[in-house]
Amino acid sequence: MNLDDFLQPALTERELADRYRTLLCADSPQQVERTVGDAKLVSFCSNDYLGLANHPSVIEAFQKAAKIYGLGSGASHLVSGHSRPHHELEEALARFTGRERALLFSTGYMANMGVINALLGRNDAVFQDKLNHASLLDGGLLSAAKFERYRHGDLNHLQQKLEKSTAEKKLIVTDGVFSMDGDIAPLPEMAKLARENNAWLMVDDAHGFGCLGNNGGGVAEHFSLDVDDLPILIGTLGKAFGTFGAFVAGSQTLIEYLIQFARTYIYTTALPPAVAAATSEALNILQEESWRRDRLNSLVAQFRTGCEALGLTLWDSPSPIQPVLLGTEKDALSLSKRLAEKGFWVTAIRPPTVPEGSSRLRVTFTANHTPRQVDDLLNAISEAL
Ligand SMILES: *Cc1c(COP(=O)(O)O)cnc(C)c1O
Repeated sequence: MNLDDFLQPALTERELADRYRTLLCADSPQQVERTVGDAKLVSFCSNDYLGLANHPSVIEAFQKAAKIYGLGSGASHLVSGHSRPHHELEEALARFTGRERALLFSTGYMANMGVINALLGRNDAVFQDKLNHASLLDGGLLSAAKFERYRHGDLNHLQQKLEKSTAEKKLIVTDGVFSMDGDIAPLPEMAKLARENNAWLMVDDAHGFGCLGNNGGGVAEHFSLDVDDLPILIGTLGKAFGTFGAFVAGSQTLIEYLIQFARTYIYTTALPPAVAAATSEALNILQEESWRRDRLNSLVAQFRTGCEALGLTLWDSPSPIQPVLLGTEKDALSLSKRLAEKGFWVTAIRPPTVPEGSSRLRVTFTANHTPRQVDDLLNAISEAL
């Protein structure tokens, strides 16, 4: 059969379900005010929570390092791609997280796939929240370990599954801040369950780093979880850090083990050194400029108060991720379209990214939004509903 003829029915089916995805192509940097062709849009759907993706000193750090180190790293870390900027960033991330050591990965997707698969094999089990990020779920599915999913945030369900398990090694895996809902996993209780059931806890804090904790240390800082409570801590650099890449932080032994056995670390080209240098600068700003977190919190509070007045359903989310639940794909798409006509960019999120019947607008905030822009968005939502 001709390839395209074989593929077309799946596309048609997706379109009929209002789940077809399309790209918008921006003609401006990642910032609040975006240009898309002829349109000027105020964006409320970026993960650049602290407004660092287009920060002048982050760009300058990138340019300076590129002048010294060039662009491509030229090889994997273990062959010849590891350079001083990578090394310094890893040391800074270890200090930042209060762990012995940190290890850079090229993306969060790869970190999650690599860590789960390096740790678990045939006689083991992985326990995952139903709403975990796709990269964690895929990591679990790819491994030979028994794959268990517990209901979102349901500690009793997790406990039952842990107690029943006869696996040799047990790994509990969760988002720190859930990527589509914005709520926080009950980590102190999970750390306790892990201890009682001889399991390890792994947290992917892609959306907590930079946003939670006085110094932006994410859920680990928010709950004061040290390496004994939380031995495997993952962060991504493409969100609040404003750059690209990911890291794992933990004990010296964990990191040495991953260097030997994590295939997505070993068999891929190292990040460009200039990206690592830019990230070190972003990390300084992220720690020092706590006004960015204060600003985020006040914008989120303003938005939530406004939504309540409009009678909208709110999630229990203290993070910059504030979903507006619509339900059907059609309703989410049509609100997104009407907001675009009014000058706002808020992408509709639909299954299979979120569960059936929970299509939504995932509204996100950055420290560079103004209170005025939030008011304008609330007015636009109220007119468009
Ligand atoms: C974005 C995200 C990832 C993937 O990180 P990338 O660096 O973009 O590959 C992993 N986990 C969570 C929870 C995320 O939100």
